[in-house]
Amino acid sequence: KAPFQSRWISALAETSQSFKGHDMLAPFTAGWQTTDQNPLVIEKSEGCYVYDVHGNKYLDSLAGLWSTALGGNEPRLVAAATAQLNTLPFYHSFWNRTTKPSLDLAKELLETFTARKMAKAFFVNSGSEANDTQVKLVWYYNNALGRPNKKKFIARSKAYHGSTVISASLSGLPALHQQFDLPAPFVLHTDCPHYWRYHLPGETEEEFATRLANNLENLILKEGPETIAAFIAEPVMGAGGVILPPATYFDKIQAVVKKYDILFIADEVICAFGRLGEMFGSDEYNIKPDLVSLAKALSSAYMPIGAVLVSPEISDVIYSQSNKLGSFSHGFTYSGHPVSCAVALEALKIYKERNIVEHVRRMTPKFQDELKAFSKSPIIGEIRGTGLIIGTEFVDNKSPNDPFPPEWGVGAYFGAQCQKHGMLVRVAGDNIMMCPSLIISGEELDELISSYGKALKDTEEWVAELKSQ
Ligand code: PMP
Repeated sequence: KAPFQSRWISALAETSQSFKGHDMLAPFTAGWQTTDQNPLVIEKSEGCYVYDVHGNKYLDSLAGLWSTALGGNEPRLVAAATAQLNTLPFYHSFWNRTTKPSLDLAKELLETFTARKMAKAFFVNSGSEANDTQVKLVWYYNNALGRPNKKKFIARSKAYHGSTVISASLSGLPALHQQFDLPAPFVLHTDCPHYWRYHLPGETEEEFATRLANNLENLILKEGPETIAAFIAEPVMGAGGVILPPATYFDKIQAVVKKYDILFIADEVICAFGRLGEMFGSDEYNIKPDLVSLAKALSSAYMPIGAVLVSPEISDVIYSQSNKLGSFSHGFTYSGHPVSCAVALEALKIYKERNIVEHVRRMTPKFQDELKAFSKSPIIGEIRGTGLIIGTEFVDNKSPNDPFPPEWGVGAYFGAQCQKHGMLVRVAGDNIMMCPSLIISGEELDELISSYGKALKDTEEWVAELKSQ
């Protein structure tokens, strides 16, 4: 039986006894879920909505997995994929052979990323592969520079960087580690920059940021700066609960890593392409990264593709060392897959033509202000976000130190009520995350906010009932 079953899950189980599970070992899904609950099988998408196999329509407030920025049926992306499939469905990019869509996409990406000058783009198939690639690039770089001991990575608690062995190690979520003998020994974790949860009494955001930067510096000194190769961070943490950096945080962190010649990797897998109301999270927080990870909205998730952007300094070392070290022996069959690249190229064109950043800025006040107005609810501790990304955290007594009993499943209950009211949200414990398609309209936002409000009222009543027992 399940180690944890909230009351509503048990109730659902009673109504679906006939379902014995399906044939997939499903990602991030508990075995008991597949036997106690029917899976939600999505069949069709349209703009910001998805439909299940029974014809139920849902506003997809997570845009797939933080990814379908252009919504569910953008004909130009379909046309780009079809045209490429009809011309050249596949060729690889190994051994100095490649395809035109991958060359064009690399050029376009380097022109689009303007937070600082980047020199090269390396293509992968996912955010996890992007971050795995980062580790190998950094190791290659330090090996080439004759610094074989400078190999450790510092990531942050509650980070999400992927689920391969290395990217899960970089992630700072216990569930990704405990079941799998991770993290790998070369990965260290420093503080999660969540002001509401972790600030000391009387500490301002700036003081909190200073304390975290000092903690990072102390960790570096304790380990030995000559052993620390890189620091990796999401501009806004996504899967850890939509956690925004406190004021001055990235300025102070960048000063520390720079001081010790440690590379800065910006994991922009969620934040890139307009999500925060700037083209990149690096623009929003004045980050000057040495390496950047991209995926998800790069193709609006229509095709799997990710990319790593490489600074001129790192690329120069890789190129100048090639006589000594030989080829850069890393890559995937589908690195720069021409269909994925053609779709991504079209997505980038659309973001620019339609000025998606400006649209996000126009929609931000409604999305942020009207949802944050719900934070006076007695069961909500904090609603936090920027641009078109927002997180809600349910706690008792409005205190980060008073979680609801996990077996109550407050977050899961809220998620189920959202679904009842025609909306899908991301639930992680008592954290709720929303990140709709960037094309969402004002009317659709009204609907999103209204569904949220209804689900919140249901959840408040249910919590009140539980507390009275
Ligand atoms: N980095 C971040 C910031 C992410 O949010 C994710 C996915 N949610 C990843 C990396 C991993 O991406 P993928 O699932 O495509 O491997």
